Amino acid sequence: MSDNMIEWRNQARERFQPLSEDFLKLYKMEEESGGAPDEVWHALADIDWFGCIVPKKYGGNEAGLFKMATTFESVCSTGVVSFLPCLTALSTAAVVRAGSHELKDKILPSILRGKTKICFSATEKNAGFNIFNIETHSNKNDEGYILNGSKTYATAFDVADYAMVVTRSLSADQREKMKLPKTAGISVYLVNTKSQGITKKMMNTRGEGAARQFDVQFSNCQVPTENLVGKEHEGALVLFTAFNLERILFCSGILGVAEFCLQQATEYAKQRSVFGEAVIGSYQAVQHPLADVKIRLDVLRNQVYHVAKTIDAGANPAEVVSLCSGIKYLASELLDKAVNAAVGAMGGQAFHEENGIIQLFELSKLLHLSPISNAMVLNEIAEKVLKLPKSY
Ligand SMILES: Cc1cc2nc3c(=O)[nH]c(=O)nc-3n(C[C@H](O)[C@H](O)[C@H](O)COP(=O)(O)OP(=O)(O)OC[C@H]3O[C@@H](n4cnc5c(N)ncnc54)[C@H](O)[C@@H]3O)c2cc1C
Repeated sequence: MSDNMIEWRNQARERFQPLSEDFLKLYKMEEESGGAPDEVWHALADIDWFGCIVPKKYGGNEAGLFKMATTFESVCSTGVVSFLPCLTALSTAAVVRAGSHELKDKILPSILRGKTKICFSATEKNAGFNIFNIETHSNKNDEGYILNGSKTYATAFDVADYAMVVTRSLSADQREKMKLPKTAGISVYLVNTKSQGITKKMMNTRGEGAARQFDVQFSNCQVPTENLVGKEHEGALVLFTAFNLERILFCSGILGVAEFCLQQATEYAKQRSVFGEAVIGSYQAVQHPLADVKIRLDVLRNQVYHVAKTIDAGANPAEVVSLCSGIKYLASELLDKAVNAAVGAMGGQAFHEENGIIQLFELSKLLHLSPISNAMVLNEIAEKVLKLPKSY
């Protein structure tokens, strides 16, 4: 590990460690926190986290995804676990790559200052993981674009300032008649969450710490021309590149969360005695699951860093997509094992919310589905890498 990297990681840990205790308490204060307390955003701005992927001419530092990933891992290892910053980074990357100059001028400086949160809204009830089946549609008019339709599972729509919304701008029939590829006809917009024509309803769900999920309805919601991200009908191209970055950040967050579980459990196991003098950490039944997590964590960390550096070096997004999906698959399994090992070592202590472990059970299940389902990762590797026939 280079001196620079150790410095970044230490800087992130120092800034976030004091927030950790309060952050864990927020799980009990869902109504107030919305899963994205402002302190977290101020701290991210202090370590210039979003600047890593923003060009210097807009105030960024251009340090790249590797720095962003390693510092986010460090942040999550303190127990401060919020994935809304990753969704904001996803949109930031999309805007940097394909946004209009007006949009970049309008939004990037305030993202850098930790003042703007952006959620992501693609999922629809009838489409599920088949994003090409979405029905929310956008039409051009004199002032920009008009959006109509319904989304579900829009995480943190209540606290986000903008949502990156995925729509159909050409129906499947129109696309076919125009003989365009399957990926055409999708458009992506940065929509102000307070715009007229938007109604949201909180869902009765769990899974992402204190962040809440929303059903969102767009009824003639007007979006300014400059908020289109990428070319009209070509939004899928914008998304696929940004998804690579999102997967790396989710993976680095999972590395940090697994490290957090390991630290908590190991410290506890070194001190707790139940039968006589021996500490429970001296029993192999407690040691081995922790050692197993340590091995997997170190190996996966190297692979996540490798892929982040490959992207920084300018890899073609299409060439790294399977690598990004593959490490996300392994990361979700690592988190399962880390949470199980922590519960195995900590026993009843793991169920105290302020210890920050029990909440991670739900998160570990969610990360099997999100940001991409593990089943869809296996489909992708079987078809694109192993060249096996498509199964669905
Ligand atoms: C807590 C939470 C937060 C979320 N946050 C967001 C968000 O912020 N923004 C957003 O856009 N979405 C979000 N989602 C949505 C999520 O990313 C998925 O898109 C959504 O959960 C799909 O759900 P579904 O049940 O409709 O999936 P379905 O498509 O109905 O799939 C159901 C099951 O079948 C499997 N399956 C489907 N097709 C195949 C296939 N071809 N091969 C093998 N298996 C298959 C899937 O893996 C899954 O296990 C969130 C979801 C949850 C639960």
